[in-house]
Amino acid sequence: MRDSYGREINYLRVSITDRCNLRCRYCMPEEGIKKIDHYDILSLEEIARLIKIASSLGIRKVRLTGGEPLIRKNIVQMVSDIAGLSGIDDLALTTNGILFPDMAEELKQAGLNRVNFSMDTMVGEKFKYITRGGNLEKVSGAVFQALELGMEPVKINTVVIKGFNDSEILDFAALAYKYPLHIRFIEFMPIGDLLFWNQEKLMSVDEIKKKIEQEYELYEGSKIEGNGPAKYYHMQGGMGTIGFISPMSNHFCGSCNRIRMTADGSLRGCLYENAEVNLKSALLSGASDQDLKNLFIKTIINKAPRHQMNSGWGSENERKMYQIGG
Ligand code: SAM
Ligand code: SF4
Repeated sequence: MRDSYGREINYLRVSITDRCNLRCRYCMPEEGIKKIDHYDILSLEEIARLIKIASSLGIRKVRLTGGEPLIRKNIVQMVSDIAGLSGIDDLALTTNGILFPDMAEELKQAGLNRVNFSMDTMVGEKFKYITRGGNLEKVSGAVFQALELGMEPVKINTVVIKGFNDSEILDFAALAYKYPLHIRFIEFMPIGDLLFWNQEKLMSVDEIKKKIEQEYELYEGSKIEGNGPAKYYHMQGGMGTIGFISPMSNHFCGSCNRIRMTADGSLRGCLYENAEVNLKSALLSGASDQDLKNLFIKTIINKAPRHQMNSGWGSENERKMYQIGG
């Protein structure tokens, strides 16, 4: 279905939990989060039903995210249920990777096509610092396990934070050169734990790209599955690609194809806009499939033309990224 600005909306990002087993400094407060009551979270069955309804409106791609999606009980069953829906032809997952090694094969068998891992540094101590305790070896092991299992593409999300990991940009590029990995450099957004964000820590994708071009020749080549807001480049002689996501310096709203569902069952047209419709309360009051479909239509029709994150995002009352689904 097209929104009011003619954009084809075919991608649903689903946050299946707002809880996490890490506490990345830019995302969550150290003490964790106020937990949503178990009964307020969408159940497995509700998620599958809502995705099926969304698929009747042209949603073809689904990404499970969070919080950390792999801490959700019965995640393998959820993957299997969604992968089995006839309208959905692309199912992906964004994860911190910590629990991935224990369930990788089951996830693959359940129908998971591809995975994005988040990894901001390749130095164990720095990883421990930024995630407040995470084990880098587990995540790097998970990345290579996904490659071995033939998941394709395997992507790595790296939020670039000046003074923290900008010194590793070429190391990440080298990783994409050596392995069929797709490294996506993401501009640091003022959307998580705002105590950690400041303008000086922001590095634009132009700066990042210039740094990589000192060492590698980049060229635009064939598209990578799941081409969302990232702009991808191949490297002369390299196995993988480099992607750049520039929500801050160059928003990509004109080609946005997505809507988002939160773990507590709200539907949002945009990560950065607060407007939501409440699917959970509709479900609780016995809404029919058509009623729910109308709520999806309303969200798509009302989707904002672009985000305004550069001018005023950040009030503490807004939902955070881990609540909406990063
Ligand atoms: N827990 C999973 C993970 O870390 O991959 C999924 C959820 S996480 C919120 C999704 C993505 O959002 C991660 O790649 C994370 O680095 C990114 N993210 C979180 N806060 C961010 C921020 N302030 N700026 C840019 N990216 C951010
Ligand atoms: Fe958890 Fe992902 Fe947020 Fe890190 S970025 S705290 S892993 S939800």
